[in-house]
Amino acid sequence: MTLARTWSVGLAGVHGAMVDVEVDLSAGVPGVVLVGLPDAVVRQSVDRVRAAVVNAGGRWPLRRITIGLSPASMPKQGSGFDLALAAAVLAADGAVPAESVGRLVLLGELGLDGSLRAVRGVLPAVLAAARAGHPTVVVPAGNAEEAALVEGVEVLAAGRLAEVVAHLRGRAPLPRHTRRPLPPTPPGPDLGDVVGQSIGRRAVEVAAAGGHHLFLSGPPGAGKTMLAERLPGLLPPLDEREALEVTAIHSVAGTLPPDAPLVTRPTFEAPHHSATMAALVGGGSGLIRPGALCRAHRGVLFLDEAPEFPRAVLDTLRQPLERGSVTISRASGAATFPCRAQLVLAANPCPCASAAGDAACTCSPLERRRYQARLSGPLLDRIDLRVDLPAVTRAAWLEAGTAPEPTAVVADRVAQARGAAAARLSGAGLHVNSQVPGRLLRERWSPPRSALRLVERALERGALSVRGYDRVLRVAWTLADLAGRTVPGADDVAEALGLRLQRAAA
Ligand SMILES: [Zn+2]
Repeated sequence: MTLARTWSVGLAGVHGAMVDVEVDLSAGVPGVVLVGLPDAVVRQSVDRVRAAVVNAGGRWPLRRITIGLSPASMPKQGSGFDLALAAAVLAADGAVPAESVGRLVLLGELGLDGSLRAVRGVLPAVLAAARAGHPTVVVPAGNAEEAALVEGVEVLAAGRLAEVVAHLRGRAPLPRHTRRPLPPTPPGPDLGDVVGQSIGRRAVEVAAAGGHHLFLSGPPGAGKTMLAERLPGLLPPLDEREALEVTAIHSVAGTLPPDAPLVTRPTFEAPHHSATMAALVGGGSGLIRPGALCRAHRGVLFLDEAPEFPRAVLDTLRQPLERGSVTISRASGAATFPCRAQLVLAANPCPCASAAGDAACTCSPLERRRYQARLSGPLLDRIDLRVDLPAVTRAAWLEAGTAPEPTAVVADRVAQARGAAAARLSGAGLHVNSQVPGRLLRERWSPPRSALRLVERALERGALSVRGYDRVLRVAWTLADLAGRTVPGADDVAEALGLRLQRAAA
């Protein structure tokens, strides 16, 4: 046999596509020819594969080796093709039976010593294999739990190339990996820990119920980070489809814990303001890595000290947040990742960030205005909830008295409110109030005139823009859903008006 073929999987974003790996051995000057648009990493992998084969006790054929990866039009990035290349070369050389690799899907990077190393993107790769009807995948042991999340595919795990070779020769079959029960997800931080910040607690509850982006302004120590960290716990747990979707992103990002590879709860991502565009949105060499924005898909993206982020970075977030996906283009190809994240921005009221609040502020009025203006514009326009958190005084802390409601109680209310909104909006193909476009809101879901007096007066006075008006209406609906009302009343509209940052532009 001088021709063999087997299978691996290439990734574009979080989508896997089957890659046919063919190896032909012919007479001629010994050497390797690669066809099918392999990237630099795949080219390097030939050297790695050769060393691994030899160090695993195999023989590297001294012939002219032609390796084809098809479809040729698909970019092939990353080191996950190593194992398939090794198996195809060995099969073409007759070291293992060609039929043993013909339907097999092989994933994994080889070390020079013949060890098999975990790679990123195994979940989407195995999903692609299952979709294409391949019965069996061989993966590195470190990826086995992740691979076993996919139903209907037999997962074989190996730690070394030699084990895979022994399996293919029929000498020592690889054990079939079965999925272990997931360890219980440890509870996240609880809203019951946040004392004396009733406005902030209310704001995260409303944000969770309506899916609204949230802007928290307040002095250091007001609890902005504490509140933001508690938002994911108020969101409903991910259903099975959502969990796989989010897990696939974290798989490609390389941020899955090996022992608990399924992400079942909304995630919380908090990039620092010095983060690069690539860290925030996605990038990197080889297999494109999704950034914090994408890892926060169906979870929360928290930007603390938001005015410190470069303006260009903040502006980059606007479109992806609106579209729910981001596309990263490279010479080697483009990758699209979903990023339906809920945004929480936090900011101090001024650059001196005095914990004592306005009284001790040393900034000039111009400095304060400039600082706040860094956030104005298109991004802030998409944020329905903008609240000004007061400093939590010692007195308020001590007087808080009764224990604040814990996450479980608030999350129940949020779930009911979300259910009511989903039932109302399903006809329009929407789920949460934050998704309702302004025009639809005014035409189809306008509260009764009697409830709107306050907000209409603000509009006439010029204290509220049309966009601001829409934001108030969206939030008023969420408040009504939380209260179990079928339509917002004047009180809901008044509270919605109050849940807006007074200093920022309307
Ligand atoms: Zn200041």
